[in-house]
Amino acid sequence: MQDTQENYTEKNTQPPPAPPEAVIQTEGLTKTYPNGTVAVNNLNLTIRKGEVYGLLGPNGSGKTTTILMLIGLTEATGGSVKVAGYNPLRNPLAVKRQVAYMPDSVGFYNELTAAENLDYTARLAQVPGDEIGPRIDESLEKMGLSGVKNRRVGTFSRGMRQRLALAEVLVKHPQIVILDEPTQGLDPESAHEFLLFIRSLRDDGMTVLLSSHLLDQVQQVCDRVGLFFEGRLILEGTVDELSSQVIGNHFQVQISAVSDNREEFHRKLSGLEGVEDVKIESHRLDEVYRSYLAKEREHAQS
Ligand code: ADP
Ligand code: MG
Repeated sequence: MQDTQENYTEKNTQPPPAPPEAVIQTEGLTKTYPNGTVAVNNLNLTIRKGEVYGLLGPNGSGKTTTILMLIGLTEATGGSVKVAGYNPLRNPLAVKRQVAYMPDSVGFYNELTAAENLDYTARLAQVPGDEIGPRIDESLEKMGLSGVKNRRVGTFSRGMRQRLALAEVLVKHPQIVILDEPTQGLDPESAHEFLLFIRSLRDDGMTVLLSSHLLDQVQQVCDRVGLFFEGRLILEGTVDELSSQVIGNHFQVQISAVSDNREEFHRKLSGLEGVEDVKIESHRLDEVYRSYLAKEREHAQS
């Protein structure tokens, strides 16, 4: 043992790094509902520690059913699941301790305040008593909700409720975070902000599985994606890999330019080697909006 280690040092070579461990794994996972609908069909999924994985596909393609099987809320009719090393149906408590789950429609006690709702969650998750207060403050702070800590949740907007839902996830200090359609119902600006929060979970060492039917919206935060179609995983990989695998060696390049002469600019770009098509478009309206607000803010400060 010691010899081997010395050899590595002497030759200045590192042992090959072990691949990160799989924290979620399914084999042949299948769910046929009693009415005969095959919602999930022979799914083989491996999610590794520390990645953000996007389970993506249209409504009805089997994303929620997959998630429910991962956390033991519905029973598979075939195949197997392991989450953090446990079978979620046989060891539901062990899985619950490692996993925080945000369902597609989150419910809170509207008559309680934000802090009281989190306190309730923390107790259910058996967070040690003396840690509850600090964790509530830390989670609210992180989600930008400190200012409304003592406000009744009934008065919260949709965006604030989603952020509180993520604060609820954070209070548990989970290893694995599972989010079902986390940006559903949010305006583009809030969705963008919310996705950045999701990214920060990964930066804090958590593994994130999120589902969405808004493919273009969530692709930016996913390290890898799995594309679902009618209960089957039809494509899997990084967005780059899938793009070159399916579409080939074509790139889309976005250029931001200042020019008085659109036609001239178009002609010049079109003449470049390898360019197939040039489209000059106005900025997207959400960018116009964001840019306007930024200028206003700048103006107000000066
Ligand atoms: P997604 O989350 O991708 O929208 P779901 O997992 O909710 O997909 O649904 C997958 C399929 O299973 C759909 O055809 C849906 O109608 C069906 N389904 C979902 N829940 C049930 C249920 N409880 N009973 C019968 N069919 C269901
Ligand atoms: Mg769903």
